[in-house]
Amino acid sequence: MNHKQYEKWILDDSPLSAEESELLKNHLASCSVCQKLNEGWQKSLQGIHSADQHVPTAGFTARWQVKLQQEQRKRTIVRRRIIVFSSLFFLLLSLIAYILLSGSFASFLANLITLTTQIILFITKGLSELTMLINGVPSIVRWSLGIFMIGVANMFIILLTYIIWKARKNHREQQEAPAYAEE
Ligand SMILES: [Zn+2]
Repeated sequence: MNHKQYEKWILDDSPLSAEESELLKNHLASCSVCQKLNEGWQKSLQGIHSADQHVPTAGFTARWQVKLQQEQRKRTIVRRRIIVFSSLFFLLLSLIAYILLSGSFASFLANLITLTTQIILFITKGLSELTMLINGVPSIVRWSLGIFMIGVANMFIILLTYIIWKARKNHREQQEAPAYAEE
């Protein structure tokens, strides 16, 4: 049996068999290194156990109560969320059940499709009318309008750049302000 195995037995907190503890006892009687390790380990175990029996300090109790309250608050929030979500889920289920039972699901679907089609038709019509309107305008006006639009877009970009620059500058100044206050 090598040295390592005895060290493992000393430090392991699972109980040894009768044979194992006999072997360990014999080894400890002959090996001073393992003997020291065993004594040191037993002492620290005693230290841990006596520390366990200490009456907790007031600070500890207060901290523990705060932690307990936080835990309870968290649990309350979770419970509320569960109630809200399950209510919503129940409402959804009821709605589906109602649609299925009343047989109005088909009409519901039909209405939905009709509405979607109408929206698409409306957008298409609007776009084609806009194209017709633009085509009706004389080309010289169209060109002028186009150049004007490019100018507006450029101005917008310049304005945007200025706003971003200004915002960044303000942000930097705000970050530097506390440093001045501390001096
Ligand atoms: Zn040893």
